[in-house]
Amino acid sequence: MGVDILTILRRHGRVHGLIGPFVAPKLTPDTWEPFCEWLDAGLAGDMVYLNRRRNERRDVRCLNPRARSLVVYALPYSGAPPGTETVHSGLLSAHATGEDYHHRCRNALEKVVEALRTELRTHVEGWIHVDTAPILERDFARQAGLGWVGKNTLLINPDLGSRFHICEIALPFDLPATPVVVPDGCGACTRCLDSCPTGALVAPRVLDARRCFSYLTIEYKGSIPRELRPVLGTRIFGCDTCQDVCPWNQKATVRSFSDAETLAMDAVDILDLDQGGFRTRFRNTPFERTGRTRLIRNTAVVAGNLKTQKATDSLLRLLKDTEPLLREHAAWALARVRGREAAESIRVAYEKETDARTRSDMALSLRDARET
Ligand code: SF4
Ligand code: SF4
Repeated sequence: MGVDILTILRRHGRVHGLIGPFVAPKLTPDTWEPFCEWLDAGLAGDMVYLNRRRNERRDVRCLNPRARSLVVYALPYSGAPPGTETVHSGLLSAHATGEDYHHRCRNALEKVVEALRTELRTHVEGWIHVDTAPILERDFARQAGLGWVGKNTLLINPDLGSRFHICEIALPFDLPATPVVVPDGCGACTRCLDSCPTGALVAPRVLDARRCFSYLTIEYKGSIPRELRPVLGTRIFGCDTCQDVCPWNQKATVRSFSDAETLAMDAVDILDLDQGGFRTRFRNTPFERTGRTRLIRNTAVVAGNLKTQKATDSLLRLLKDTEPLLREHAAWALARVRGREAAESIRVAYEKETDARTRSDMALSLRDARET
């Protein structure tokens, strides 16, 4: 029975762009304790949801009590090299182009489960997980033979590199495991650690999320640390540096989705979006989950780094936004873009500011503007 099911899973997975199935040999991760140590060291930043559900991550059956097997798939993605951006553009992480990958993966897995039901002519329970469930997905993917954990903390497959999403189906029957252990391909390489702009990779395979631009631009709801804002460069959403430099991505042979997808976004366009405009433009995209405030916060920093004169009017409007976070980052960006010319506008905003945190950050921006 197991072999037939694997064949069905492989055939229908392929139809929907999935690579697999890879079947984990057990339903308990090998790295739960190191994961807890990482949380306890505070390296997860404000991702409190990881801590709240840490115990559920001990065993897939905490979440799906009737599960007997965990089937892992990879959904590859690729992005075009920057080529269409103008000086007013910002960069997106390659994983963020197109439809939200949570939807893409879930839709594909639902079709696989449906196909399984049709071919087996019976109702089969299949619990689908894409990124958001309390499951140590990377651990199970490694156990199942999808790849090894690189020094950049990402799972690397010899053919795919690291540009793929991991998604799973828990099933209520035993399947033969596919634990072809993929040997560590990092060797003596340290390119990712050497290239990280913030030193967020504090040791091989150890990420300090608080310094990582992927976390700071996507997950983190607060103020981007001032000392990291100039380092953010043109990254509007996510960061691919530790993947771009990885030799396994440079020689990856399996890609999917259009290579023509752009990795650039016009910063000035983004700054002008109100809530309604944001919803219309970004429905079903990864930006929808992150929301307007965080996306515009990031974009303001990028506009400041690009010294985009065209962004001046938009930034002046943002100084009066209802979100303190945006007023703060707009002031910072204006000081960079217009220097002394922006000092009076920042001063007026500072005088009116009622949020204590924003006010103290604005004071620094006002000082910077005056000193320019
Ligand atoms: S995503 Fe960027 S900031 Fe985060 S570890 Fe990789 S290179 Fe560093
Ligand atoms: S850049 Fe080098 S060290 Fe880093 S994940 Fe890739 S192969 Fe491993």
